[in-house]
Amino acid sequence: DEILRPDADDTELAFEGALRPQSLGEFVGQQKVRRQLQLLLEAATLQNRAPDHILLAGPPGLGKTTLAMIVAHEGRRPLRMTSGPAIQHAGDLAAVLSSLTPGEVLFIDEIHRMARSAEEMLYLAMEDFRVDIMVGKGAGATSIPLELAPFTLVGATTRSGLLPNPLRDRFGFTAHLEFYEPGELFRVIERAATLLRLDVDGDALHEISGRSRGTPRIANRLLRRVRDYALVHGGRADRTAVRAALELYDVDEQGLDRLDRAVLHVIVDRFAGGPVGLSTLAVSVGEEAETIEAVVEPFLVRSGLLARTPRGRVATAEAWRHLGREPGAAAGH
Ligand code: ADP
Repeated sequence: DEILRPDADDTELAFEGALRPQSLGEFVGQQKVRRQLQLLLEAATLQNRAPDHILLAGPPGLGKTTLAMIVAHEGRRPLRMTSGPAIQHAGDLAAVLSSLTPGEVLFIDEIHRMARSAEEMLYLAMEDFRVDIMVGKGAGATSIPLELAPFTLVGATTRSGLLPNPLRDRFGFTAHLEFYEPGELFRVIERAATLLRLDVDGDALHEISGRSRGTPRIANRLLRRVRDYALVHGGRADRTAVRAALELYDVDEQGLDRLDRAVLHVIVDRFAGGPVGLSTLAVSVGEEAETIEAVVEPFLVRSGLLARTPRGRVATAEAWRHLGREPGAAAGH
């Protein structure tokens, strides 16, 4: 039932690598963001300097890592990749920053999970390409300034609201990635099918596009499962194969997975439609609050199934109907 979780596991990374668009031109959808990035990159090239720092915000699987790679690739700049959880101390960050080469692109995934002490070091590094390294402890401690090579920071976050303002303000540009329309996802998997030489018919691609939670990573993943299904059953990768494969993996017609539905069920069945607080909801479905907030909610809200109110989360009438219930009716009646 992990098929719809938008985070990639290790086996998936190699496969994803092969499918990642290498240029803005190949990157499907997000037209506004693409044009904004294009302008920013071209201006930097004309002035022969490193592009401004870029923050990419949005749910997992929408293309943040891919865009960071494109920023490096389009500018023919080297790329260094790390993540917030890997930066536990200011020293971890100092080590990365001091080894950057001029013009390098530094990608920090999940930047909101970086240690506080490192955040402060990053402010100065972003603004002045300089860090102050603390040497010694207690009364004898001194700070030694260290010049850095000019670099471009590309930060990615699923929770831009969690970033402290001073950090957010130091990005020259923030891109908010949106869920993709089915037509865009169609182009993503059509391209993937060609690259992977999969024989999948248009109906099948269409069906997958509509059931992928608006997320390219999930669309690519479903494509592979459908391919598996066709392979094992000796048939074509057609709409029948898609339906059978998705049913097997508990994906419903709207692309909701088990966790999405579990969240709606808790609100509707246990709390008469809500409002329910985030932490109560998380405990009830046995997931972390962060996952509910960054992964489940944005999709349910955008699908018109969930509303966020000051008093908590509320299931919409459409959510009740999606679960096969009359809006407002008590369970079992
Ligand atoms: P994130 O970093 O936001 O979690 P990724 O950049 O890792 O997402 O994208 C996940 C997968 O989806 C990658 O394999 C990538 O090839 C594919 N993908 C994402 N966005 C696009 C896009 N706009 N066009 C084509 N493929 C995409």
